[in-house]
Amino acid sequence: MKVSIYRPLVGNYESIEAITHNQCNRCGGLITFERSELKERYCRNCLPFGMVSERSKLYLYSRDCLVVDHKLLLSFELTSSQKQASDFLMDCYKQKQNGILQAVCGAGKTEMLYQVILYVLKEQKRVCIAIPRKDIVHELTRRLQGVFPNTVVKCLSEDYKEDEGAHLVLSTVHQLVHFYQEFDLIIVDEADAFPYKDNELLERFIQKSKRLQGIIIKMTATMSASLKVHQKANQIPFFYIPVRYHQHVQDIPQLTHMKEASTTLLDSMFVESLRKQNNQHRFTLIFVPSIHLCELLKRRMQEYQFLVDCVHSKSKNRFQLIELFSSKKVAFLISTSILERGVTFEDIDVFVYQADATLFDKDTLVQMAGRVGRSAVYPTGKIVFFAKTKSRAMIEAINHLKKANHVAKKQGLISR
Ligand SMILES: [Zn+2]
Repeated sequence: MKVSIYRPLVGNYESIEAITHNQCNRCGGLITFERSELKERYCRNCLPFGMVSERSKLYLYSRDCLVVDHKLLLSFELTSSQKQASDFLMDCYKQKQNGILQAVCGAGKTEMLYQVILYVLKEQKRVCIAIPRKDIVHELTRRLQGVFPNTVVKCLSEDYKEDEGAHLVLSTVHQLVHFYQEFDLIIVDEADAFPYKDNELLERFIQKSKRLQGIIIKMTATMSASLKVHQKANQIPFFYIPVRYHQHVQDIPQLTHMKEASTTLLDSMFVESLRKQNNQHRFTLIFVPSIHLCELLKRRMQEYQFLVDCVHSKSKNRFQLIELFSSKKVAFLISTSILERGVTFEDIDVFVYQADATLFDKDTLVQMAGRVGRSAVYPTGKIVFFAKTKSRAMIEAINHLKKANHVAKKQGLISR
């Protein structure tokens, strides 16, 4: 069912109080004793989605979906690791148990979902893939509509709100505020990503959107500390894939010492590395910790005549910029963490500038490193952390990647 604070124009609906006792019925949050100018209590937790107060009603109404013959169009076979993960997800669903799937960047997580999604759809039930980042929601919607041609696949984000008749909904976690006990299978992709990670409000959105008999699968490349605790405490079934789909080892970041960052001069070691990249015709994605630094570094690099552009959340033409780099028309693309996940460039190297910045935690650095070697044709690449100090996150990220390679080798999963 969908939850609205506005009365729907058509169809059947029921209305309930928005707030009962001390609890908001839309987000599940507790009401603190805040009063608006109208002297009524309202929910501060979900205020950005429109105010609900003790005088408000919530309207619940059903979404109608046509019965169709769902089909999966797949032109390739899953690897044995992908198949095992796919079977794990099927078991979770059949046993009505939540599950957690951890797989290294480039393991091909999306493909592992197809079997269970098809199974649930064939039962004429509804599936949601919730993703923290909206760019990834859009991209994945196109991909899934391609493999499920008979299914109505719709995308929900702050820009797209229409989900009429959708059997399969891809949504930012925020948009799940509008659902109530709707889905039999909710897959949370990139469960380690901002803003979902450790966010109680968004977690409640997911929990309330699940039907009582439904299950939640969380997928991640790196288990956050809180997710690990949650998994152990609740004995949630867990499956780990330590190898990429092309079965090559993951590249380990190298460390290069950089002097104190200056706003006027580029570090000589860094410039030297850029020149080397240019001479070897290597295309390089450079991550930086802030939008300001993104723009500044671009100007400095242009002074050295490098062919460079930059992209961040405020870039109006960010899809064109990504396309330019993807089609090898710019040698260097500087980016904030906006490109740390969900994008695939073929045959590139990754530099992390000021890798010791406090904003870069282990998970972020692992994701950045995971941008290299994603294709089977070009399965390796260079990753360099440029930093003044060796931060704990940098060491943890390197250890994390080494450990995954070690486990993959031990399990005989590295074939090339
Ligand atoms: Zn609320």
